[in-house]
Formats: sequence, structure tokens, C-alpha cells
Amino acid sequence: MAAYLYRCPERHETTEHAPMGEAPASVECRCGARAARAFTAPMVRSLPRTAHRMRDAAVESSEQPRIARRAAGTPAPAPAGPRHSLLPRA
Ligand SMILES: [Zn+2]
Repeated sequence: MAAYLYRCPERHETTEHAPMGEAPASVECRCGARAARAFTAPMVRSLPRTAHRMRDAAVESSEQPRIARRAAGTPAPAPAGPRHSLLPRA
């Protein structure tokens, strides 16, 4: 089921749920007028940024998992150059 938005001439908004591709062109508004379907952007941006990052990390790790190059608790090797210490750490 997808949510479809309808708007009447009085600018009232009504949301109807219908299977994808089967939404009626208009519905009756609570004021009695016909409300035409309003086309809106897909809800792709409704996820918080953190959720997007988590999803991207899961997809990335499923294809290219990170490999540990040293045992946990051992110090990181010294950087190759003095400017490398200025770079952001992963
Ligand atoms: Zn209305």
C-alpha cells in the first residue's frame, strides 16, 4: 500500500492508501468537494541522515568488508609523513 495525497479546491489535504498504481484520480474531501490527486516527491528523504549512513555502510561492507590489519589494542603504526597526522581518521 502506498499513501497518496489529494487536495481539494479549498486546499484541504487528504491522504488515501491504495495499492501502487491503483490510486483513484480524485476522492471526496471532508468539505464535500472533489479532491484531485496531488503529485509529490517520493519519500526517499524521509530517512534520517544516520539511517542513510548505516544503510550505505551495510551495503558497502557486504561487498567489500573492512579488513583488520592489526590486532585490537595494539597501537597504530607511525604515519608515513608529518601531514598524514592531519588527515581525518576513519
Ligand atoms: Zn476540502
